[in-house]
Formats: sequence, C-alpha cells, structure tokens
Amino acid sequence: LKSILKNPHLLATKAYIGGQWVEGDNGTFAVTNPARGDVVAEVADVSRAQVAGAIAQAEAAQKEWAKLTGKERAAILRRWFDLMMENAEDLGKILTAEQGKPLAEAIGEIGYGASFIEFFGEEAKRVYGETIPGHQRDKRIMVLKQPIGVAASITPWNFPNAMITRKAGPALAAGCAFVARPAMETPLSALVLAVLAEQAGIPAGVFNVVPSSSASDVGKEFCENPGVRKLTFTGSTEVGRILLRQAADQVMKCSMELGGNAPFIVFDDADLDAAVEGAMLCKFRNNGQTCVCANRIYVQAGVYDEFAAKLKTAVEALKVGDGLSEGTTTGPLINDDAVAKVQEHIQDVTDKGGAILTGGLPHDLGGTFFQPTIVTDVTQDMLVAQDETFGPLAPLFKFEDEDDVIAMANDTIFGLASYFYAKDLSRVYKVAEALEYGIVGVNTGIISTELGPFGGVKQSGLGREGSHHGMEDYLEMKYICLSV
Ligand code: ADP
Repeated sequence: LKSILKNPHLLATKAYIGGQWVEGDNGTFAVTNPARGDVVAEVADVSRAQVAGAIAQAEAAQKEWAKLTGKERAAILRRWFDLMMENAEDLGKILTAEQGKPLAEAIGEIGYGASFIEFFGEEAKRVYGETIPGHQRDKRIMVLKQPIGVAASITPWNFPNAMITRKAGPALAAGCAFVARPAMETPLSALVLAVLAEQAGIPAGVFNVVPSSSASDVGKEFCENPGVRKLTFTGSTEVGRILLRQAADQVMKCSMELGGNAPFIVFDDADLDAAVEGAMLCKFRNNGQTCVCANRIYVQAGVYDEFAAKLKTAVEALKVGDGLSEGTTTGPLINDDAVAKVQEHIQDVTDKGGAILTGGLPHDLGGTFFQPTIVTDVTQDMLVAQDETFGPLAPLFKFEDEDDVIAMANDTIFGLASYFYAKDLSRVYKVAEALEYGIVGVNTGIISTELGPFGGVKQSGLGREGSHHGMEDYLEMKYICLSV
C-alpha cells in the first residue's frame, strides 16, 4: 500500500492518544484487503486502560480547546479540511485498500467526509444562544450553548472516513474533545485523520484514535468512564440497543445512527429512466453496503415489467472487480458473513416463490465478490422485507395502490431513509408526509450531504448529523436566570 501513496507517511498504524503515537498494550491486529485477502497493515491494539488514558487526556485538553473562540477553532478545522482535500487521492487509496470500494467512490467519500469538517468549522462561529423576556420585572433569562465535554465515537467500516468526520466535525467545532474507536476492519482511514489533525494544529488530546480488537471493552469504557459525557454511534440497531442500555447508568447523552430498511417506491407516473438511475445509485453504491441503500424496491404494477427490464440492463453493465483497478464500479463485500447474508436472502426469495432476474451467485472472481442481483415477485413475507441485506441484491415488489404501498413501506421497526419517484404534485406531498422516515428522497436516490439533517426515527436512531441541527448533539443548553 505504501508504494502507491504519494505521501507514504500518511499510513499510520499506531494509536493516537494525547498527541502521541503509541503502541497497543494488546499488541496488534491485522487489517486485510477484502479484494485480495492479503494483510495491508498491522495496527496497534489498545487495552481498556489505554482507552481510559485517552479519555483522561481528552478531558484535560477539552477545557483549553473550549476556551478558544469559535473563530479560532474554525481556522484550525479549515486547515484540517484543506489537508484532507489536498491528500484526497492518498486517503482514497488507503480507504479502498482496507474497505474495498472503487477508488473513485473512495475519493468521493473523502470529499464528503471532509465537507463535515468544513461546514462545522464554519458553524463554530454561529453557536448562538438566546435571550428570553423575563417572567418578572427584575428577571432576565439567557440561554447559553456550551460544549458537552468529551465525546466518544464508535463507527462502522462502510464509510471509514465520513462516519468519523460527521461526528468529529460538530464535536470539535462545538468545543468538545473526541475519542474515536474505528471499526476493526478500517482503522487506517481513522488514523490518517489523526496524522492530518496533528498537521492542522489540533491540540494534543483534542482528537484521539483508539483502534481495538475488542469493541465491547471500548464500548464499556466509554459508557462507564465519568470523563465521557457523550456517546455517538453508527452501526446496527442491535449494538445500538446494547450501548444505550450501558449508557443509561451514567445518563449519558447518545446519538445513534442505526440500521435502516429503506423502501424505494416507483409510482406509475414516475420518470422511469430517472427512477432506474436513482435506484442504481441508491442500491448499488458501496456494493449495497450503506444504511440508506434501497432495501425494498416497490414498483407499481403498470410499470413493473418495464422498470425491471431497464434495471436489468443497468445492473448487467456494472463491472465487479478490485476497487483499485481502472473501470471497477463494484468492489467485493466486506467479509464472508456479508456474502452469506446476501445468499440467505436470495435463497429465501426463491424458496417462497420469487425469481432471479439477473445474478444470484458468488462472482467468478472468488473471495467475497458477488454478482449484482435482481430478484422479482418479492412479497412482504420474505426475509428481505424485514431485514437489511447490506449487499448487491435489488428485490422488486409489485404493488397496485398508493395507500397499500405506504402501509408496506412503513411496516418495519426502522425509519432511516426512504425514496420515491412520482410526478403528480399532490401524490408527492401526500406520500412524503406519510412515510415514517427521518429522510425522504423524492425523485432522487442520493440524499447524503453535510447541509441536510441526516438521521432516523423509530429504531433507526436518535439525533441528527449534518446541517446546523447536527451541532446540537454536542451542545448543552444552560439557562441563566438573572435578577437585576
Ligand atoms: P456493522 O454491521 O456495521 O459492523 P455493528 O453494529 O455490528 O454494525 O458494528 C458497528 C461498530 O460497533 C463496529 O465498529 C463494531 O466493532 C462495534 N461494536 C460491535 N459490538 C459492540 C459492542 N458490544 N460494544 C461496542 N461496540 C461494538
């Protein structure tokens, strides 16, 4: 990997704690390239005591960091953003090598991830409080917004850069210090952020990265250590529930970006070509491994066959391969479990009467490569209707009626992203209001931007990331009642 980087020093493998690069008390763990199966790096495996040490460093550093003006923090965050953009290609290569997504997509993620540092840096200047007319003649009511303290994050492997910057951006902008535990599959993308943080002049202890092979140990330390005042997590609903339970003992503020089960509805008045394009981006980006990927594609009966045919043409044009090879549109899946889940969902569909329109099998390339797949005649009793596939499987459900499809779309414990394609204006309003989701994409398959509030309802999570609302998750409100 080093040999293909313009700046080989970006490949850091030690933990970054209190401004120091340190070995892990538990030795190292291996990071493998999912496209080739080879070991890319051995990364420091920190102990629970080292995580506690990082929290202590963060606590001390946070007090000074919070004293800076918003404008001073903004200038430093701007440098961090600039460094990410200047090194985007190298950061992209590191990301592809450990995660598998095509290099163009990886570089796209770096731009997306960096945008949160840029945006929230700017927002650091706009942490406005409030004055409220007093309740008595001598009373003045003021509301201050103050940083919550030390924020700790646990993040997944599917967006190894952006899932961290979405949290660290608002945290640091608000005046919090940050301790990041990256996914074991993708620590290098987190560590390179620390390399650039150091270069940007982020003070020692304000941004820490603690790679560890024991997620549950780190999770417990984050929840039990009184130095942490905020837990921010992206991952499955299952683990989110565990962390919420653990965090309850300290009554810790939590942000949770959890699982989704996104419906993607194509009505008969939709622009079908646009809907196919949206579905391709929404379903097959990152090989289907995003929490906002279309998981259930509902197509109205009158356009079902035509949509299926057009989608088939588009899917068969995808090029599966190593993310670092020219022309690859679709990389490998992250691991064998991911492949097994896709196979389980396909098997369940065919067992219950559905059909495979294209794909359906592991790819000839072997490893964790899988054929982009479409299945038809999918119904609500199948596994894929309730469970997120997190892979390259597009299941097509047929529906007749608007109210029915809304009911089916909402029939899930999840409520993160949803999408639909339609032209009729009253239908657009009605359906957008009726979908029980935190995010609704109307005539678009891509909704992620630092400018919008990303987050879910129901069991998809708590809190919002992105937009000025994203800052609130890292701020406490203080009400001052002044008698004059
Ligand atoms: P994914 O399917 O995206 O890996 P998970 O929820 O399993 O979703 O994992 C998300 C992150 O949470 C990963 O970094 C993982 O290591 C971590 N994690 C898993 N179990 C726990 C736990 N019990 N406590 C804290 N973190 C955990």
